[in-house]
Amino acid sequence: MRPDLLSPLFGRAGALPGVGPKTAKLFDRLLGRGGAEARVVDLLFHMPINVVDRRARPKIAEAPFDTMVVIQGRVTEHRPPSSRSGKGPFRVVIEDETGDVELVFFLANFDWIVRSLPIGQTRWVSGRLELYDGRRQMVHPDRVLDDAGLAKLPAVEVVHGLTEGLQQGYMRRAMEGALAKLPAMPEWQEPSVLAASKLPSFAEALTRVHRPEAPEDIAPQSKVRQRLALDELLASQLALRLLRAKMRRLPGRENRGDGRIAARIVAALPYELTGAQKRVIGEILEDLASDRRMLRLVQGDVGSGKTIVAALAMASVVECGRQAALMAPTEILARQHHERLTPLLEGAGLRVCLLTGRAKPSERAALHARIGAGEVDVVIGTHSLAQADLAFHDLGLAVVDEQHRFGVQQRLALGAKGAAVDILVMTATPIPRSLALTAFGDMDSSIIDEKPPGRTPVSTRVLPAERIGEVVEGLRRALAAGAQAYWVCPLVEENEDLDLAAAQERLEDLQKFFGADVGLVHGRMKGADKDAAMEAFQRGETKILVATTVIEVGVDVPNATIMVIEHAERFGLAQLHQLRGRVGRGSGESSCLLLYKGPLGETAKARLLTLRQTEDGFRIAEEDLRLRGEGELLGTRQAGLPGFRMADIVTHARLLAIARDDAELILRRDPELTSARGEALRVLLYLFERDEAARLLRAG
Ligand code: ADP
Ligand code: MG
Repeated sequence: MRPDLLSPLFGRAGALPGVGPKTAKLFDRLLGRGGAEARVVDLLFHMPINVVDRRARPKIAEAPFDTMVVIQGRVTEHRPPSSRSGKGPFRVVIEDETGDVELVFFLANFDWIVRSLPIGQTRWVSGRLELYDGRRQMVHPDRVLDDAGLAKLPAVEVVHGLTEGLQQGYMRRAMEGALAKLPAMPEWQEPSVLAASKLPSFAEALTRVHRPEAPEDIAPQSKVRQRLALDELLASQLALRLLRAKMRRLPGRENRGDGRIAARIVAALPYELTGAQKRVIGEILEDLASDRRMLRLVQGDVGSGKTIVAALAMASVVECGRQAALMAPTEILARQHHERLTPLLEGAGLRVCLLTGRAKPSERAALHARIGAGEVDVVIGTHSLAQADLAFHDLGLAVVDEQHRFGVQQRLALGAKGAAVDILVMTATPIPRSLALTAFGDMDSSIIDEKPPGRTPVSTRVLPAERIGEVVEGLRRALAAGAQAYWVCPLVEENEDLDLAAAQERLEDLQKFFGADVGLVHGRMKGADKDAAMEAFQRGETKILVATTVIEVGVDVPNATIMVIEHAERFGLAQLHQLRGRVGRGSGESSCLLLYKGPLGETAKARLLTLRQTEDGFRIAEEDLRLRGEGELLGTRQAGLPGFRMADIVTHARLLAIARDDAELILRRDPELTSARGEALRVLLYLFERDEAARLLRAG
C-alpha cells in the first residue's frame, strides 16, 4: 500500500487550484501515462526544458541582441499602423539616455498598448532585441511592467514542454499548485552521499528545478537535477534488486548434466570453441547445476558464436532428462537455428522440432502433443513457444535469442512453462555497461568478448549516393569473382509502403544489370516467400539480395562478403553495426559500403565515422548511446527498458554507480526495509511507482 503521506501527489493534476476542465484535459494529454489522467506527481516530474533569464538589465545601447533582456525606457512615441485597413504593426518607441528601441506589436490591441505604455511614462519591457533595417527593435515583448510589476517578476522563469493549446502560464500556475502539495518526506538517501556531493533534499530540489534561481539550476549536471536523478536511480536499482532477490528465492532445480551429450556435440564441431565461449558455457553450467533459478544474459557481438553456447546449455539440460526450448524473434532465424542445430543435436541423439506461427493447425496440434508427451527434447521456434496453449512435458531451460526483440512479458511467459525453468537470454546488441544495469539489472550477465579466429576485418567505406554507379560497377567485378552481396534499402518505419516502393525500384534497377541474379526479401512478404528468397540466397542461386532490414539479426551466409546500405544516414548506429555483421563471416575479404544522401547532420556524420573507425560492438554501443539517448538503443521502451523521467543515463552515469552500490548495501543490511531509513526508502519506491517491488516487502 502506498503510504498516506504520498496521497496528495497521486491526486488528479486537473483538480489543482486554477486548473479548469479544458486545461485539465490538456494536462492529461501531455502527461497522462498510458492514457490515464495526469496526476500531481506527473506534473512535478515534468522537467523544464529551458529558462527565460531576465537577470540582465542593460542600458538600451548596451543590450545584446537575440537574447532575453529586460530594459527600462521612457515612452516617447506611439505609431499606429499607417494604412486605414489597420494592417501593419503598432509601434511604440521607448528610450533611455543611451538610445532608443521600437517595440513592435502585430495585430495589436490598441487599448491595451495605450494603457500599458502611456507616453511620457517609464516602463520595463522584457524580450529579445533584434536589429532590423539598422534599427533596434523588440517584437512582442513578453512583459511590459512598471516598477511594482517588475518587483514581482521572477528573474529566472522555466519553460516546460507543452502540448497544443496549453500555455506556459497555465503550466506555471498548475506547477505552483503542485509544489504546494509536496508533503514533508523523510530523507531516504545516505547522509554521507548527500554531503559528499552537496545535494539538497528531494523537496528542495524539486521546488528549485521548477523555480530556478539561475538557469544552471535546470542543467542536467546541476545539484538540483543530480539529486532528482539519484532518487530516481536509487528507486530503480532497489526495485530491480528486490525483484531479483525474489527470483532467487523461487525454487530452482538442479540441472546437473553429466556432459555425455555435450561432449558428443563438441566432438562433432568442425572448430575449436573459443576461450570466451568455454568460459561462458562454464558460467551457464554452474547456474544450471545450482538449485537456484538461472536468469542469465549472454552478450556477444554478431558472429561471436552464441548459438553453439545455447546448444550446449540445452544439451546439458536434456542430459538430466528435461526439455529445452530456443525462442528466436523471427521466422527466418528460427528456421536457421533449426537447420543449423538439428544435424548437430540429432547427431548427438536428441529429438528436435520446429514450432512457428506458420505451422498448420493440424501440424501444430501434433507438435503440441509430442512436446507435451516428452517425445521431443529440444523445441526451436518463434514466439509461438510462449503461447498459452502449449504445455511442455518438463521444460528445464528456455533460451531467448536476440532478447531486445522480445518484451519482458514473453520472457516471463516462456519461463512460466515449467516448474522452475532456467532462463538464458542471448543478445547481439552489445549493451553499454551503464545501460545494462538499468535494462537488465535483474539478470546475471556473461560476455563473449572474443570472436572465432580467422575472421578478416570488414573494410568500411562511406560514399555519397551519387556514386552509386561505381558501386554497381564494383559489384559486377565482385560477383564475377564468385562473391555475393546484400543490398539494404532504408526502413522508415512510419511508412512501410514507401520503403517497399524504394526496395522494389532498386530491385528493378539492379535486375537491369544483373538479371535473375537479384532476389528480394522484405517484411511484408508472406512467410513462405521470404524463406524461399532467403534460401535461394543462402544456396547461392541469387547473388544479390535486396532487403529491407529483415536481414538485420542473426542471418548467416558466409559467402556473402559485400554489404551495400543505401541511405545509411537513416539508420541508427547499432543497426548499421548489426547489418555490417552479416558480412565478414567467412575467410574472404569483406566490404561494407555506406551510401548516404547529403547534406549530413552532425549526428549522422558522427555515426558513419564511428562505423568506419571500429568494429568493436561495445565501443559502437557506447557511441550510439551517447549520440541517440537511451530510449532508442534497444528499439522500443517495450523491450523492458525502464523509462526515466529525471535521470539521464549518459550524464548521470556516475550517479547510477552510486545508486547501484547503495542499493546493494541497503538490501544487505536491511533486506525487508524495516529500519528508519528502510521506511523512508519504501516511500521512495512508491513515489517512483515501483509498487510491484515494494509489495514484495513484508508490511512495515
Ligand atoms: P552469433 O553470435 O551472431 O549468433 P553464430 O552463433 O551464428 O553467431 O556464429 C557465427 C558463425 O561462427 C557460425 O557460422 C558458427 O558456426 C561459427 N562459429 C561459432 N563458434 C566458432 C568457433 N569457436 N570457431 C569458429 N567458428 C565458430
Ligand atoms: Mg545468433
